[in-house]
Parts: sequence; structure tokens; C-alpha cells
Amino acid sequence: MTIERTFSIVKPDAVKRNLIGAIYNRIEKAGLRVVAAKMIHMDADKAKGFYAEHEGKPFFEDLVAFMTSGPVMVQVLEGENAVVRYRELMGKTNPEEAACGTLRADYALSLRHNSVHGADSPVSAAREIAYFFADDEICPRD
Ligand code: GDP
Ligand code: MG
Repeated sequence: MTIERTFSIVKPDAVKRNLIGAIYNRIEKAGLRVVAAKMIHMDADKAKGFYAEHEGKPFFEDLVAFMTSGPVMVQVLEGENAVVRYRELMGKTNPEEAACGTLRADYALSLRHNSVHGADSPVSAAREIAYFFADDEICPRD
């Protein structure tokens, strides 16, 4: 059994609608553990660096404007196959294509305002965790 870590964001649309607890509840019910968490309000440079892989795409500027529009919760999740399992819990990027019972099907407002982020691979997860958290801010659980 491999315990893995992934990186997650509760995006501004969900924080604004008071959905932090609902989303954490779903994460915990799925058997993933929150091992680090904080609320932050990103500035444009922080958001651009986070989404550097999308720089130059038509939706990049709108994405940065959205991600800096209000506070977000950033968290590290731990569990067996956490990266894939959390992507499954989130559902597809476009909520209209997300499977029933996924976070995006239930909470997302649109393709852009889609409530949650999750790392797409273990390599991305490691980069994204280090982008927001120092090692001593992460609290491994039994
Ligand atoms: P994710 O890994 O499922 O979050 O999706 P991507 O990495 O492809 O895109 C990052 C984020 O950019 C998505 O979660 C959306 O918020 C936004 N996004 C992606 N594609 C589009 C698009 O075609 N239009 C708009 N407006 N936003 C998009
Ligand atoms: Mg992505």
C-alpha cells in the first residue's frame, strides 16, 4: 500500500458560497486526510506561477483573474493513491461533463468557476505542495 500526497484548492467561487466545510467533508468521507491547510488570497504573480503550464492559452488571463478574486483554501491531502482518487472525487474540469456525485458536478458553476483544483500527477503534486507549504507545515497522520 502506497500512501501518497496530493495538492488541493477550494477555489474562490466555493469559498464565497461557504462551501469549505462541505468540500472538506466530502474529502474526508472519501478516505483522504487533510495533513496541511491554510486560507490565502493569491496575488497575480502567485497565481501565474501556479498555473504556468497554461500561460499563453486563451483562458489564462481569466483564470488568473478568477483565482485572485478572493481567498482560497489550499491543502495537502494524504491517502492511498491520493492523486488519482482526489481527481476522481473532483470530476471532470467542465462540470457539465463531470460524473454525478463528484465535487464539480455538485458545486461548480461553470468551466472556469469550477470550485476545486487537484494536482494531475504525483510530479505536479510535489511541485504544487512545495509552492504553498514548507515541509514543517505538513503534519503526517497515523
Ligand atoms: P483541471 O486540472 O481539471 O483544473 O483543468 P486544467 O488544468 O485544464 O485547467 C485549469 C483551470 O483552468 C480549470 O480548472 C478551469 O478553472 C480553467 N479552465 C480550463 N479550461 C478552460 C477553458 O477552456 N475556459 C475557461 N474559461 N477556463 C478554463
Ligand atoms: Mg490542471
